[in-house]
Amino acid sequence: MIEFKNVSLTYPNGHQGLKNVNLKINDGEFIVVVGLSGAGKSTLIRSINQLVKPTEGELIINGKDTLKCNERQLKEVRRNIGMIFQSYNLVKRMSVLRNVLTGSLGRTGTFKSLFGLFSNEDKELAMGSLARVGIDDKAYRRADQLSGGQQQRVSIARALTQKPNVILADEPVASLDPPTSHTVMKDLKKINKEDGITTIINLHFIDMAMEYADRIIGMREGEVVFDGPVSEVSEKT
Ligand code: ADP
Ligand code: ADP
Repeated sequence: MIEFKNVSLTYPNGHQGLKNVNLKINDGEFIVVVGLSGAGKSTLIRSINQLVKPTEGELIINGKDTLKCNERQLKEVRRNIGMIFQSYNLVKRMSVLRNVLTGSLGRTGTFKSLFGLFSNEDKELAMGSLARVGIDDKAYRRADQLSGGQQQRVSIARALTQKPNVILADEPVASLDPPTSHTVMKDLKKINKEDGITTIINLHFIDMAMEYADRIIGMREGEVVFDGPVSEVSEKT
């Protein structure tokens, strides 16, 4: 479980990215965070693995206040959290397979892997992840030869290979055309249902959020202004 208790985040320039956020996220939930550009969606998502660090409150993951963790403990927390970005964040010149493997280094972390050598077991795991998003046939292509949708699926496979409990996706479909966006959202939903991975996704389209989310969190100016199941959205807005 992930719990925000009175979490605020003030950026170094004084801007308040999060204002007194209180949330409980249960294991296995599929949550979409919505709001206008600048509402604090990305800040909320990135605070969970402390790519940005809240300045006040408690952020409890599996019983531990992660804001009090030291670097080593934080590494352990992050190991269980897969991250997906709008711009895929693949290494362009590397093969798809190597991208997936390198991303999961933190998990498998064998001595050989430091030198770019991976065990057959690692490779099988990575190929399995690629197969789950339908692109195992592209394993030996250079990452930048793939379409946007395919690259985003590589980044999902990279996250999966890490065997995470949580997947955070920060605007994963913002660079994709509508049909491709749906494919990516379906992949994320399928993985959530099959593996029970808690999934938290930022989207700026309410229609897509309504179509896929089990629970919607609405943000405005750093505050959570809505939190409930999709069925409640139309009643209140
Ligand atoms: P969203 O994801 O909803 O578009 P963000 O979380 O990216 O919103 O940003 C929330 C607010 O915090 C915005 O006003 C943005 O300009 C501001 N912000 C984001 N990052 C920083 C930063 N590093 N320093 C100062 N302000 C920031
Ligand atoms: P592009 O970015 O090239 O438009 P698409 O997302 O449209 O890529 O996918 C290309 C092809 O792969 C399509 O025919 C699509 O149906 C198929 N595809 C997409 N997602 C999956 C998946 N998870 N598993 C298997 N095939 C998929």
